[in-house]
Formats: sequence, C-alpha cells, structure tokens
Amino acid sequence: MRTHYCGQLRAEQVGKTVTLCGWVDRRRDHGGVVFVDLRDRSGIVQVASNPDLPESFQIADSLRNEYVVRITGTVTQRPPESVNPKLATGEVEVLADQIEILSAVSKQLPFQVSTSENETVREELRLKYRYLDLRRPRMQHNLQLRHAVVKAMRRFLEDAQGFMEIETPVLTKSTPEGARDYLVPSRVNPGEWFALPQSPQLFKQLLMVSGFDRYYQIARCFRDEDLRADRQPEFTQLDMEMSFMSMEEILELNEQLVCHIFKTVKGIDLPRPFPRLTYAEAMDRYGSDRPDTRFGMELADCSDLFKGCGFKVFSGSIAAGGIVKTLPVPGGNDAVSNVRIKPGGDLFAIASEAGAKGLAFIRVRDNGEVDTIGALKDSLTPEITAELLQRTGAQAGDLLLFGAGPAEIVNKTLDRLRLALGKELNLIDPEAINLLWVVDFPMFEYNADEQRLEALHHPFTAPNPEDLADIKTARALAYDIVLNGTEIGGGSLRIYQRDVQEQVFAAIGLTDEEARAKFGFLLDAFEYGTPPHGGIAYGLDRLVSILTGEDSIRDAIAFPKTQQARCLLTDAPSSVEAKQLKELQVASTYKPKKPEAEASA
Ligand code: ASP
Repeated sequence: MRTHYCGQLRAEQVGKTVTLCGWVDRRRDHGGVVFVDLRDRSGIVQVASNPDLPESFQIADSLRNEYVVRITGTVTQRPPESVNPKLATGEVEVLADQIEILSAVSKQLPFQVSTSENETVREELRLKYRYLDLRRPRMQHNLQLRHAVVKAMRRFLEDAQGFMEIETPVLTKSTPEGARDYLVPSRVNPGEWFALPQSPQLFKQLLMVSGFDRYYQIARCFRDEDLRADRQPEFTQLDMEMSFMSMEEILELNEQLVCHIFKTVKGIDLPRPFPRLTYAEAMDRYGSDRPDTRFGMELADCSDLFKGCGFKVFSGSIAAGGIVKTLPVPGGNDAVSNVRIKPGGDLFAIASEAGAKGLAFIRVRDNGEVDTIGALKDSLTPEITAELLQRTGAQAGDLLLFGAGPAEIVNKTLDRLRLALGKELNLIDPEAINLLWVVDFPMFEYNADEQRLEALHHPFTAPNPEDLADIKTARALAYDIVLNGTEIGGGSLRIYQRDVQEQVFAAIGLTDEEARAKFGFLLDAFEYGTPPHGGIAYGLDRLVSILTGEDSIRDAIAFPKTQQARCLLTDAPSSVEAKQLKELQVASTYKPKKPEAEASA
C-alpha cells in the first residue's frame, strides 16, 4: 500500500513519486493551500494540497485529526524560508496528487494526539485510551527504545556469547522471591492451585542441571505486592543463568552486556570495570544498598564522638545499641531553614516517614562558626566540632543533619534526605551515567515480625566459602547492579552442594519436610550431578524507564497497570460469572462494603 515511511523522506527523494500511509497529525489551511502533517511510527512529513487538483484538495480540506489516509504525491524541496529544522523531514514536503481516506474518526478524541499539542494529559485518561496514548511520539519513542534494548540483549547474548533462550512455565509452583504469589485455581485438579512465577529461578537452575549452560529469557514475572511508583504486578526481566563460570567471569560478562546495550541504544561508551562497593561500605557511606554516587554528600558515622555526651537523644540512642550519623548538606546553611527541619517542615516529614523521631542539626555559618539550637549545643566541645568538620568535609555555609537511633532507621532517614536535598540543590548531573556493583551482601536479614532469619536474596544463594564457620553471619556471593541509584539487576552464585543447602535451610528455620514440600523437585535434581552455576536478572521496565528519562516504569510498558493494580483499558480485574467459579470449585468470601448511608441506617 505504501512506498515509504513518512519519517524517511529527505532531500535525496526530491522529484520522486511516493505513497504514504498514516494518521493526520494536524491539518492547516493557509490561504488556499491545505497542509497536512502526516504521521506514522517513523515520524512526520508535511503534505501540501492545492486547489489545482480539486479532487484531492476537497478531500484534504475535509480531513480531521487522526483520520487514517493514504497519500500519493511528489517529494519537493521546500523553499528556504519554510524549511523546518525541528523536523527530520523538514527540508521537503509532499505535493499530494491523490488522497484516500482509509478510516475516519467518528468519536470525539479524549485528548489530542498531535505532536503540536503539548498539554499534559491525565494519566488515567492516557491509560484508558492507551492505544491513542501509544500513538504519541513520546510513547512511540519509549517503546522503540525498549525494542532496541531487547534486541541488543539478544544480539549480545545469543550471537556473541552463545546463550540460548528457553521458555519456562507460567503456570507453576511458588518460587522463592519472597513476595506474595498470584494464584490460579486448577479446574482439573479441584482444590489445587498454580502460582504464577515470581521469577524463573527454579527452572533456570534446573536447566543448568540439564546442561544448557548459558540460558536467558525475556521473562514475565508476577508479584502480588502493594504497588509503589516503580513496581508493577507483572513485569519483565532479562533472566540469565550460567554454569562453570566464576563470579568474576559472570560480572565481567554482565559488564560487557550493559556496555553493549548503552553503546547500541545510546551510542555511549561506558568506562569499565564498573566500580564495586561492598554492602557494608554502601550502607556506611550512603545509608543505602543502591547508592546514587553521582554526587557526594556522604554520611559520616559519629557515634564515637557522642557516646556518653550530655545530649540524651544521641547518647541514649548509642547506649541502646543504635548509632549517630550525620549528613553534610553543601550550602545548606542558607538553603535549609529551621522551619523545614522542625515538626511541620518538609524535611521533618521525610525523616518521620522513614521512622525517625526528629532531626538534629548543626549550622556552619558563613564565617565558619558552628551553631545549633537546644541541648545539642552544650555537647559540642571544640574537639567534637573540629572532628565533625573534618569527617564530613563540611565548609562554611554548610549544614549537618543528624540521625540517631537504630542503624536501620538512621540509614533510611539520611538516605532519603540525601537524595531529596541532592536533587533540590542540583548536585546531580542529569547526563551522568553511574553504574556500580554492590557485592558482599549478607546472606540473611532478621525478620522482626516472624522473629527469624530470612534469605536476603533467595535461599539458593551461595554463602561466601570464607564465612562458612557461622552461616548466620556469612556474606553471600550475591551482587546487585545499580544505575544512578536504582537497582537494575541482581543475582548470585548458587548453592550446588547438599550440605551447604541444608545449613541455609536450617538458618532460615525451614525444616526438611518444608523444604521438600516447597523445593523437593529442585533438591532431587541436585542429586543427579549439578554444575556450579550462577545468574542474574535485570528489571527490563526499570532499565528502559531510566534510559528514556521517564520517572515512572508505566511509561516504559505498553499496557501497564495502575498503582491500584488495575488495567484501565480492559477494566481488569473484573468479576466473573458464578458458573465459572462453580466449575473451579472456588467460592468467594468477599462481601462488598455497603455504601455509608445504608450501613449507618
Ligand atoms: N531470581 C532473582 C530475582 O528475580 C535473580 C537471580 O538470582 O538470578 O531477583
């Protein structure tokens, strides 16, 4: 039906007759001549129709936004004064000979698709009419970039590195990523349920037992979690597993993969090797296991300085096993008023959201004098002050914010404040690409609610062989890859020796029977000759949203769900017929809430 894409036309095609198909981005009437911006997925080209050809002119005149048309015409050079440098095709236009309306728009558009309309459209509306939203250049670009990323992954892994893509089941048994499962009732086996995979973890390990020593998959994963801005109930991973490779070799291959993606998609050469931080170092210096190291503002532990001091908030926290840490804020003496730090202020709100009770602070005045308010003042001996300035590198005009209490809360608080203030003070170079590995994660973390240890990664993660004397405090052979403060992937070497696996199950309080009931098939498989193996998974949606500069991963996904886990386009989830539930032998205990008025009546 067509000879070219709209966005392909350049001066080289001048004089050629072309046929284009696409959508009317907009139509303008310029004293007799009708201009149509014709759009397809490649871009936009201007079509001109003049009254000398009355038949096509009449059609051109009747066109409205988003009509689908087919246009045949001659590519002509635009006169210099009407060249549009903002358009890739801006040097030329197509003089229309024939215009055919393939499909008209019979409903009022819920929003303008046209590139010339810069209005921001409400997200609910965008998601409800996603097919129209996806026509817009921003989303066309995002999905094209997503495609380019996946293609680069496949090229690198398959063509350069000999990986095979193998699909794993979607109807399966619960996998061990620690989130809530989505369940699917089995009609054929009433009373029994499938779980949708939280990741292909167990199957990819089985594939290693089967000898497919380099596996990958662009895999859909499902986790029934309360949604945050960067989470989706179903999301896509680049999932990989390899046998007979050391951790160094796995990290090396993955650095090459990431470099290949950046080079292919963005034309950027990334420096290698990527820096590495241990988990302990990352927590210590940034209060986070996915630090954004595009800017400084490193935290400093000053528990030793305030031990036993008169300021009870500090000394009491330390006595109770907690810590005192400080966050230096460059230029913060001016930029951050007391009001913002005290109850009711925005920084106070960030801190209390993270679990802190309050925020102590010290101002380094412009003349270099150190000042604070309240009881902290009396504890600031000249020695402590000098040491604080030394440790934080604080200069005249800076501010020091303090967190005191359990390490977890202090780190969380100062991490959030650091990110918020780093952004506010424009300390983050938006062009910077900062990749790093976080390694040496602990094997376990303590779950206070359940009063037991929990695998930080998953229970098949191998402990560092140097730490086997006490598995409970062992470091794991696990690694996360962090891009500009966002974890984009994580993985580990796996346990392939039975005795080590038993120790890990014991540490997390999993009895033999429980382990067998959950993962018996994997443990059995391991009895038949298991290669040493390890892997990683990348969050594709997140990676693409960072590469496109979007804040939300929804803008990196064609048909995402809302934060309430709904699809506004199809209106899923929805109720089903009683007959369907009966067939499944499933009964719902859900009782819709009565409307307020009725309930109180
Ligand atoms: N299955 C893990 C995850 O989804 C990744 C891995 O260990 O390979 O986070």
